Amino acid sequence: MEFALEQAIERLPAYEPKRAETEQTLRNLRAGAAGERKVAEAIQSVAWPAHAVLLRNISLSLFGGSRFQMDLAFLSNSGILLLECKQIGGRLRFHSGPAELRKVDEEGRILAVYDCPVAQMQDQRQNLLQWLTMAGFRSPVYGVVVFANNPIIEEIKSGMPVFKLRETRNLIRHHIGQQPMINDRELNQIADAMISHSIPYLPFPLKIKDFIITPICFDCSSSLKRHSERSWKCIRCGRIEYKPYILTLLAWFLLLRNTITSAEIMRLFGLKTHKAARSVAEGLPLKKVGAGKASAYEADYKKLVSTSIVLDAVQTWLEHNRQTKDQYGSLKDHQPAAKDH
Ligand SMILES: [Zn+2]
Repeated sequence: MEFALEQAIERLPAYEPKRAETEQTLRNLRAGAAGERKVAEAIQSVAWPAHAVLLRNISLSLFGGSRFQMDLAFLSNSGILLLECKQIGGRLRFHSGPAELRKVDEEGRILAVYDCPVAQMQDQRQNLLQWLTMAGFRSPVYGVVVFANNPIIEEIKSGMPVFKLRETRNLIRHHIGQQPMINDRELNQIADAMISHSIPYLPFPLKIKDFIITPICFDCSSSLKRHSERSWKCIRCGRIEYKPYILTLLAWFLLLRNTITSAEIMRLFGLKTHKAARSVAEGLPLKKVGAGKASAYEADYKKLVSTSIVLDAVQTWLEHNRQTKDQYGSLKDHQPAAKDH
């Protein structure tokens, strides 16, 4: 998801009004992911009992197809501890009736209003209890909200399950120290069932017509031009690229649609034969439909995101991108706003 939106932003023409919206979504997603990562790291730094498991981003279905998603679930013999992670800074105030979280300034003026994370967490707790019953398991489920960036929290009622990042390790130690409620075998069965029933959330393709899909530079996201038979050159920074195929095809499938024809692959990469297009398409786990000149390739998103070649490519790209940004600040600051010429 993060990958798709990041690519999306690089490819959206500047005049497209959706751009700001896409960027905001990306910013929120990034902040959420960063908060979750910090909390997960804190949990991992505690010594766990042998059978304990930490599950991330598990999404399960209830009757009627409704789905719920959990940031972090820590499973041990004492039961399941859900950790709802929040990355909201500043001065926060919990408000009841309506249950919401308010971000305020020093004078108490409301700057922003969020859904109450405690109510969200309670909801997930109930959902998970219901799911466990449906699946034939019994385990206590506890839940906490963890703020990953140590905000100032005002007016917090005692007993409210709200914690700061630095309290996470103690929380986990406390949870592990509780009386055992499930045995090792049950714990493993529950963890296996949660993992195997989890459905990745994949809102693809985004189907936004204005995306310009071209092979792009690993470093600066500008377009690549054919340099030689086997290489590509960035029109902006001059980086030489040899295999832009996987990321470019992924961007196509995530942003535009779930199929690509042989002719489109040829055009995308400046290839001269259908045979060359086929060999590019075969780099990804795609389903071939039709034959010869009319052949096209169809993406199965679940398969795509569970293929190591795809995950590796995305991971490498994201890490590289993050490093580049850490080094130079936001990449956006260094890019001309208009890319439509
Ligand atoms: Zn470049």
